[in-house]
Amino acid sequence: MSSVKIINLTKSFNNTNVLKNITIDVEEGEFISLLGPSGCGKSTLLKLIAGLLEVDSGDIVFNNESVINILTEKRGAIIVFQDYLLFPHMTVYENIEFGLKMKKVTKDIRSKKVEEILNLVKLKEHKNRYPSQLSGGQQQRVAMARALVLNPRILLLDEPFSNLDINLRNEMREFVLSIQKRLNITTIMVTHNKEEALTMSNRVAVMLDGEIKQFDTPKNLYENP
Ligand code: ADP
Ligand code: ADP
Repeated sequence: MSSVKIINLTKSFNNTNVLKNITIDVEEGEFISLLGPSGCGKSTLLKLIAGLLEVDSGDIVFNNESVINILTEKRGAIIVFQDYLLFPHMTVYENIEFGLKMKKVTKDIRSKKVEEILNLVKLKEHKNRYPSQLSGGQQQRVAMARALVLNPRILLLDEPFSNLDINLRNEMREFVLSIQKRLNITTIMVTHNKEEALTMSNRVAVMLDGEIKQFDTPKNLYENP
């Protein structure tokens, strides 16, 4: 678990300023949404926090430690992408295990951790299935499990519910929140869905054109829209 401070962060692509002086402060265990229209810079911000892109200027601080020079694998902020990016030729078990293998975790510990997470996301009975044999909600739970098994300090969710139908969406929102609360894991979710941001988050950062326009609790945002 970790707090996150984003300080005066800027990022340009081909001389276009995509993020302009972004500052946000996320507390340990908090659930934050980045809410804004397509193209406003939400995913870019998420990738900077994860270390998948380099910042132009500014700082990113986890628990009082600057992480901008720390590699992605060591940083501990893990993104769950909206299209899940599961390996189609691997079973549920193998998909979840893969990151641990990459980190050279021993077989005994891998097995213990994967089984633990399978219980947490309620996929134990599906562990030998392939992604194509799973429903959308189950695939999303595998994607979550694959991130959680690595014990991230910060969980980053990129439009996690956009590929699910409306009925499943509510169920999955509750599911993600229950796991987030249980693990008390600092979470930053990108969404363009206002209702989703307001109902799920402790605080919402409203973004437009690469800037944070408001950063407040759902209650205050309702009262001062
Ligand atoms: P959002 O997630 O809010 O939809 P993005 O962060 O994906 O927005 O994109 C913000 C802007 O940056 C967009 O104009 C997009 O076209 C541009 N952009 C994103 N990634 C790149 C890239 N790798 N190269 C050039 N431009 C990019
Ligand atoms: P390897 O050392 O090549 O990973 P293992 O003997 O660990 O081989 O496992 C054989 C296959 O079964 C692997 O693909 C592994 O991911 C999978 N596997 C291992 N333990 C379990 C388990 N408890 N449940 C489901 N699949 C498992």
